[in-house]
Amino acid sequence: MSAERLSPSGGKINVGVLGATGVVGQHFVSLLENHPWFNLTWLAASERSAGKRYGDLPWRLARRLPAAAADLPIDALDAIDRAPSLLFSGLDASVAGDAEIACARSGRLVVSNARNHRMDPLVPLLIPEVNPDHVALLERQRAERGWTGGIVTNPNCSTVVVAMVLGALRQFRPGRVMVTTLQALSGAGYPGVASLDALGNVIPYIGGGEEEKIETETLKILGTLETAQVRNAPFTISAQTTRVPVQDGHTVVMSIELGTAPSLEELTSALDGFTAEPQQRKLPTAPATPIILHTAQDRPQPRLDVHEGGGMPVHVGRVRRCPILGYKLVAMGHNVVRGAAGAALLNAELLVARGIGLAVSPSGNDAYATAEVRGA
Ligand code: NAP
Repeated sequence: MSAERLSPSGGKINVGVLGATGVVGQHFVSLLENHPWFNLTWLAASERSAGKRYGDLPWRLARRLPAAAADLPIDALDAIDRAPSLLFSGLDASVAGDAEIACARSGRLVVSNARNHRMDPLVPLLIPEVNPDHVALLERQRAERGWTGGIVTNPNCSTVVVAMVLGALRQFRPGRVMVTTLQALSGAGYPGVASLDALGNVIPYIGGGEEEKIETETLKILGTLETAQVRNAPFTISAQTTRVPVQDGHTVVMSIELGTAPSLEELTSALDGFTAEPQQRKLPTAPATPIILHTAQDRPQPRLDVHEGGGMPVHVGRVRRCPILGYKLVAMGHNVVRGAAGAALLNAELLVARGIGLAVSPSGNDAYATAEVRGA
């Protein structure tokens, strides 16, 4: 899929960001700058921010605020009639549920980070490298809900690391999986965890059902699509989650049981050689190497590795035998890029590339959600 094919006139698809002022929202704005297919035209956040110019609010990323975004006004959520037909959502979970449904009902396609609709049986919970076929759920979602738009989600920021690893190892039939996370502070949004709680500390609890999300979302992602519904993958995950004083990058320590008992060489080559539809289609946000395998004993490390490949690869190291479950390793991924904004961007690119739910309007400069889902 090339950018030229999006529109006979060469125009890009207009997109908006819900929750544009948050940690995830700012990453969306940054990643959308100079995107070959998408053109950011609309921003929304809470009543606290509505009516202000985006550039007049605090910008907290190390990369500079894109000039075009700085001049955009911020709307409130009741102004979706002004929104383009493709929306990225980084809304707080307290409002994302209803707001995203309102957008879908009004004909807009919402590509969301929020947890609210992930486990809805009619909503695709997508990682384009692992379960691109699940986009077919969108057709039934629209038919059953009567929506002309729709909702597509990406997983929780730790789940994506676990599911990418297990996706690469699917051929070896995962059984029981033990997971312990060491999660970065940026995963808690802004201002997040108080500095006096976080510094020099490990907090052994993350609210919002973090452990349950890893245990359930992974099974849906690795599940099998059957006549328009997903049958969960037949394995069990036990997760413990902790918050650590790291800026970006969730580390995930995993012990894995595998049904086919591969050698360590077979295991590492499956991880190292993992590649999928986004790489074959050369989607703009797809990392060339979805899983980077480290051989040094002291890698991956968030500070050294998290920004490689723009934050889209998942890193894996310390692959070795586990005396209890058979295999163990350390994985790590950028929680706000691969775990949030970059993940949603890749999902939208997959939908465009497959011609699903998006098309270019006759004017050639806007997207509209089609009632018909094609190419699924
Ligand atoms: P955040 O920094 O707290 O940002 C929340 C956003 O939601 C802000 O734009 C905020 O607008 C908006 N918002 C809050 N209350 C609102 C209301 N009543 N009406 C309209 N807008 C409202 O949080 P975040 O870390 O970016 O996370 C955003 C979403 O992504 C959450 O659902 C989170 O669970 C999910 N997520 C986050 C990560 C991560 O690593 N941070 C990873 C995966 C998923 P104002 O600025 O105007 O208040």
